[in-house]
Amino acid sequence: MSEEIINTGTEKVTDITEEKKTEKSSEDDLNKDRDYEEYCYVCKRTESQAGPMIHMPGTSIAVCSDCFQRSVDSIKNSGMNLEDMLKNVNFVDMTDLFAMNQEMPKANRIKKRTPDEEKEPPIDLKKVPAPHIIREKLDEYVIGQEHAKKAISVAVYNHYKRVATNTLKEIEIDKSNILMIGPTGSGKTYLVKVLAKLLDVPLAVSDATALTEAGYIGDDIESVISKLLAAADNDVDKAETGIVFIDEIDKIAKKEGTTTRDVNGESVQQGLLKLLEGSVVEVPVGATNKNAMVPMAQVDTTNILFICGGAFPDLENVIKERLNKRSSLGFEADLKDKYDNDEDIFSKVTMEDLRKYGLIPEFIGRLPVVFSLKGLDRDALVKILKEPKNAILKQYKKLMELDGVTLEFEDDALFAIADKAIKRGTGARALRSIIEEFMLDIMYETPKDENIGTVIITKDYIEGKGGPGIIAKGAKESE
Ligand code: ADP
Repeated sequence: MSEEIINTGTEKVTDITEEKKTEKSSEDDLNKDRDYEEYCYVCKRTESQAGPMIHMPGTSIAVCSDCFQRSVDSIKNSGMNLEDMLKNVNFVDMTDLFAMNQEMPKANRIKKRTPDEEKEPPIDLKKVPAPHIIREKLDEYVIGQEHAKKAISVAVYNHYKRVATNTLKEIEIDKSNILMIGPTGSGKTYLVKVLAKLLDVPLAVSDATALTEAGYIGDDIESVISKLLAAADNDVDKAETGIVFIDEIDKIAKKEGTTTRDVNGESVQQGLLKLLEGSVVEVPVGATNKNAMVPMAQVDTTNILFICGGAFPDLENVIKERLNKRSSLGFEADLKDKYDNDEDIFSKVTMEDLRKYGLIPEFIGRLPVVFSLKGLDRDALVKILKEPKNAILKQYKKLMELDGVTLEFEDDALFAIADKAIKRGTGARALRSIIEEFMLDIMYETPKDENIGTVIITKDYIEGKGGPGIIAKGAKESE
């Protein structure tokens, strides 16, 4: 009896706290909503552009006073008597109309900007980690690529130091935008992703091949900034200190001898210039081109760090040709094929080589930090499998552990996986798909048998010549 009372008592308590919780969360939601600007349902201008909004009763729709006035005027001009009309219009019907889920899409909302006088420096200098700290963090996730990690740590440190001290405007061109050259799957995107995470800044990853000159089919060049804005929860202040990574930049190299308009190549490079050097651009919010009927936001790109990456196939031939030419002349005369087997050939790239490859000089000029990543060899691939903080093997081990099963990999098996990945030619990118292929059966079969204690992945299993080693629960301890 007394237990019952206590139970009902606690139930009530939890009920009240639940109620409070929901009340609080809806209050939080409201507060969050207040942080965002409303925009006109008709012309898509935001509050800061069009002034306070007029709300349609019973809906979340807002209209700016200009559009509201225009519709009233057009009713008047049509000869209708406004008063008669208002009498006849059934507002309930209007609400029904809007209630057809015509909500303002949240993806299109823009966060209110902090007024200039209240603005703090975009980044606190004390919070910018020193290059060696950035490097140490990168080491936890990224295997090898020592030079790239060092170069990017310094470039990023310098960039944010300039942002924090607000000297970027004075030395505009000297922004440390970066160009990374390295084969597919060598970790270019990954390096940038880890970096953005540890600096806690928004990141947008775009593909240069999807970009076209405005007005053509494809994404407008400014869409890279729209993406960044989305990554920053449509908070313009936050987006303005973010990182934009543009992959496959080699694909927008100028095409030699084209007679038609080069909408995907040179003109995209031209279009990117003003973003790279820093300017205020108007970008669509929640869409990739300006034709879409969505609100626009103004974003200053001065403090945004742009990192471009690409595999640049055949660039090594351009570099070799230049080096061989030089080495066959005068004092430095050397063997003609000296550079043919140079694995580090990309590190010798010059602006001139990139220009020859098809990047326009102004574009190269705005990417002052250039470095290369090496193709990953067998040993590096094995390390990638097991060493990073979130290594694939660690992830699978954890998954199996939840079923009470120990997962082990023989060293030979890891090399076999690496060999398979090398054959696919997509660098470390192939590792996950190879592991997923052979782990599928194991993940499917093991939960069927409660006696399985340990599964050992062997080289034969990877090569399809045998099954994995299985040890029953308890067997190992008694051995
Ligand atoms: P890229 O952009 O150079 O084509 P990615 O960065 O997309 O290659 O690499 C694909 C995946 O391979 C990443 O998500 C990451 O898991 C892994 N990877 C690639 N390189 C490395 C590396 N050096 N260290 C750790 N993991 C890596």
